[in-house]
Amino acid sequence: MTAQVPHILVVGGGYVGMYTAYGLRKAARRGRIRVTVVDPRSVMTYQPFLPEAAAGSVEPRHVVVPLRKTLKGCRVVTGRVTAIDHAHKVAKVMPEEGPEYELAYDQIVVALGSIARTLPIPGLAEEAIGFKNVEEAIALRNKVLDRLDVASSQPDPALRKSALTFVFVGGGYAGVEAFAELEDMARYATRYYDNIKPEDMRWVLVEATNRILPEVGPELGQYTVEQLRKRNMDIKLETRLESCEKGRVVLSDGEEFDADTIVWTAGVKANPALAQTDFPLDEKGRIKCLPNLRIEGLDDAWSAGDNAAVPDLTAEDPGVFTAPNAQHAVRQAHRLAANILRVVDGQEPQDYKHKYVGSVASLGLHKGVAQLYGVKLKGWPAWFLHRTYHVSRVPTFNRKARVVLDWTLALFFRREVTSLGSLQMPNEEFRRATSS
Ligand SMILES: Cc1cc2nc3c(=O)[nH]c(=O)nc-3n(C[C@H](O)[C@H](O)[C@H](O)COP(=O)(O)OP(=O)(O)OC[C@H]3O[C@@H](n4cnc5c(N)ncnc54)[C@H](O)[C@@H]3O)c2cc1C
Repeated sequence: MTAQVPHILVVGGGYVGMYTAYGLRKAARRGRIRVTVVDPRSVMTYQPFLPEAAAGSVEPRHVVVPLRKTLKGCRVVTGRVTAIDHAHKVAKVMPEEGPEYELAYDQIVVALGSIARTLPIPGLAEEAIGFKNVEEAIALRNKVLDRLDVASSQPDPALRKSALTFVFVGGGYAGVEAFAELEDMARYATRYYDNIKPEDMRWVLVEATNRILPEVGPELGQYTVEQLRKRNMDIKLETRLESCEKGRVVLSDGEEFDADTIVWTAGVKANPALAQTDFPLDEKGRIKCLPNLRIEGLDDAWSAGDNAAVPDLTAEDPGVFTAPNAQHAVRQAHRLAANILRVVDGQEPQDYKHKYVGSVASLGLHKGVAQLYGVKLKGWPAWFLHRTYHVSRVPTFNRKARVVLDWTLALFFRREVTSLGSLQMPNEEFRRATSS
């Protein structure tokens, strides 16, 4: 479209989108390219900190990175891309308000990420909550603390039991970290209730396979199961959630019980919005990419991260793709930005190659597991490594400083366990006032 300055459209402002635009922003400021980032959110979420945000160890505002502030030199559009017609190089954008419009581009980066992979389980949509964004982390924290308030003020034993039962489905790092961090916070909070003891709560993790935390390997996964069981948490392996209508949880092992809180963290799938594009998709709905992160068969379209099938050049067998995680997303974004600039300069793009270095997981304050560069750590050292690693990774110095400040304050003051349950219904009291 534009004659001299190529317009790069970045669809999605998460890990891949934000970091790619970040890598392009200097060239944009010098007027070599124009960059537009489109995302329905005005912030990028640093997802590995969501469990700590839910547990109150980190202020939720500090785990998100404002796109406009960080991407100076790029245009940020707050809206949803509803379709991409690459044959004509236009994307349809639905802003928060007003009619849909078209955005033309010269090159496109598709970074739509993934969404929760759900199953048609009766009651799931109505009763469960996901754990992928900061709103869900805040809502879950409020809900857990609110349920303690409800249980404490409720004489009916059945209602009290249901309020104190928390079910998580899915044993990957997102699920296990959220499960362990929230239990740790709730256990701490019980000290402020004269009629709730930690053993009155029931925390259940439901996992369909025979292991949890596959990201840290079988040995540390087994260690995690043992540690959580020692904390009286119920880890149900090789078990599936069959239904949860009206909060009545039915499991494949035959057990049935009521639970007010059900959290779904059973994996992700590529963003289904990709179906509204003319890009080549694989059988899992991911965009087919070349190792240099170009979309197969196209010179002016790129992709990476959770929504892309990128060949893993470090794998021994062909046909293996890079796993959907932040480690690859960030590194791919750096490569992607560099490749776009190479192409703008008339050079060939280079292949992405990175060997997965392992994972770190926090299991509550001073508890964790880690496997990095083949080194296995447990307990406090793993927890410390988890914090050090993620603070080194969270984008911008500003966010790093704020997160470290949150942790430092927590050393001197007691844990903050106030429920702000009414945040979800802020106008409830005013509505009552107007109707009285
Ligand atoms: C709770 C949790 C903890 C995690 N912990 C770890 C960890 O410890 N280590 C690790 O390696 N990985 C971790 N991950 C995984 C990691 O966060 C993802 O792999 C990474 O975010 C993928 O980056 P992405 O850019 O592909 O997708 P995302 O970062 O999800 O970005 C996708 C972006 O697309 C936007 N978008 C969606 N639809 C549209 C649309 N129609 N139009 C425009 N924009 C759209 C979204 O708003 C979002 O900003 C965790 C994930 C979660 C949920």
